Amino acid sequence: MKAHDALYVDGAWRPASGPELIDVVNPADEQVIGQVPAATAEDVDTAVRAARAALPGWAATPPAERAARLTALRDALAARKDEIADTVTAELGSPLSFSKNVHAAVPVAVAGSYAELAASYAFEERIGNSVVHHEPVGVVGAITPWNYPLHQIVAKVAPALAAGCTVVLKPAEDTPLVAQLFAEAVHEAGVPAGVFNLVTGLGPVAGQALAEHPGVDLVSFTGSTAVGRRIGAIAGAAVKRVALELGGKSANVILPSADLAKAVNVGVANVMSNSGQTCSAWTRMLVHEDQYDEAVALAAAAAAKYGDRIGPVVNAKQRERVAGYIDQGVTEGARLVAGGSEPPREKGYFVSPTVFADVTPEMTIAQEEIFGPVLSLLRYRDEEDALRIANGTVYGLAGAVWAGDEAEAVAFARRMDTGQVDINGGRFNPLAPFGGYKQSGVGRELGPHGLTEYLQTKSFQF
Ligand code: NAP
Ligand code: MG
Repeated sequence: MKAHDALYVDGAWRPASGPELIDVVNPADEQVIGQVPAATAEDVDTAVRAARAALPGWAATPPAERAARLTALRDALAARKDEIADTVTAELGSPLSFSKNVHAAVPVAVAGSYAELAASYAFEERIGNSVVHHEPVGVVGAITPWNYPLHQIVAKVAPALAAGCTVVLKPAEDTPLVAQLFAEAVHEAGVPAGVFNLVTGLGPVAGQALAEHPGVDLVSFTGSTAVGRRIGAIAGAAVKRVALELGGKSANVILPSADLAKAVNVGVANVMSNSGQTCSAWTRMLVHEDQYDEAVALAAAAAAKYGDRIGPVVNAKQRERVAGYIDQGVTEGARLVAGGSEPPREKGYFVSPTVFADVTPEMTIAQEEIFGPVLSLLRYRDEEDALRIANGTVYGLAGAVWAGDEAEAVAFARRMDTGQVDINGGRFNPLAPFGGYKQSGVGRELGPHGLTEYLQTKSFQF
């Protein structure tokens, strides 16, 4: 894998101020595949200054020209799709087909959607005797995780650029190489110097410095609730805007009238994809007590089929964390029907696709985000019970409802405290607002709702 030994700041690759490097490890074989610089607080400051200096020019660039740069960015990402897929497979460990179809393809669609939105959005509107201008918030500090490494970058940078903001990005230390590829694509797209800056580095050093920097107007963070809470506190104290995409513990509610086999099989696939490292994964499957045993058998069989088809989790710490949750599930009395905490292979950070039955709502594995290939099946007595269980966590990011009749599923989904619900399987929509109720976050990403996060209003009265 090719790695830049520099940070992308003010339109060029520049050496970091300190000697610290981050090893990039392939989680499938534990080999070091590259090294990137670990930015210091001084590097972050240099990058924020570059972004501030570039802000007036980019904010004043006509939306049609911003749209043209985003179209060029989409094309540059599309041209690199194979390299992107290979890189994500190498640093995250996802199977190559998934890297191509999701990790490389979705960012192209999202970049394209913001090219269109930049061109078509009403940045000016009339309300009575006022003209309201939607202006860029300013300099954005973006902090992203490793689980969908390029998607999470594009879901912040593309709307920020469309809005006229400039950006400093601190990507996850586990997946910096695809972030470097992204910076190359931005450069190739002719985005002016300083509009986008990349500082690879460690969360508590570079990430923290970025969140705290007084030159940053909006911090947009995706990652754990623990770090998100701290970033929210920092932003609150400084009275700056903040967007938080945090964890989830989403419910997959299978109503008695649903096609049970389909709902269970799609539900298992949803959890196992990306080795369970998906914030919106439907990690709790809720089944009526009369259908419960059948659902458990179906889920166990579906998980067993996965065997070798899922990749490792991202690193050793994550594998330990996931294994710890599996052990805790057993200790608290849940019944393992597939997988377990034993590593299935000697090399690589693999976790067996795991299914728990007899999970009750108060168990740790029914409450906390595990972020591994672990599914919990809970039984419910009636719809009210199902709703109480579905809404009974601190999270509210996504979910699913299955029923024989679409209207029945929608009626249930309307009562769920969560930001997205897929009805009878649904289909990913890159324009639909994505974000959490409750402790799953603050703000929305994607589509026009994601664009407004990067805008502030100014009204003129006549
Ligand atoms: P994390 O620590 O929240 O990492 C997310 C991003 O924040 C990374 O870029 C990280 O840098 C950075 N960061 C860490 N500490 C920071 C700080 N004090 N100030 C500013 N930035 C900071 O998440 P993680 O450690 O990678 O994963 C831990 C758990 O979080 C997972 O098991 C999972 O449950 C959850 N998670 C959720 C999502 C999601 O999409 N909702 C994504 C990833 C993880 P480093 O990369 O250097 O740590
Ligand atoms: Mg971390």
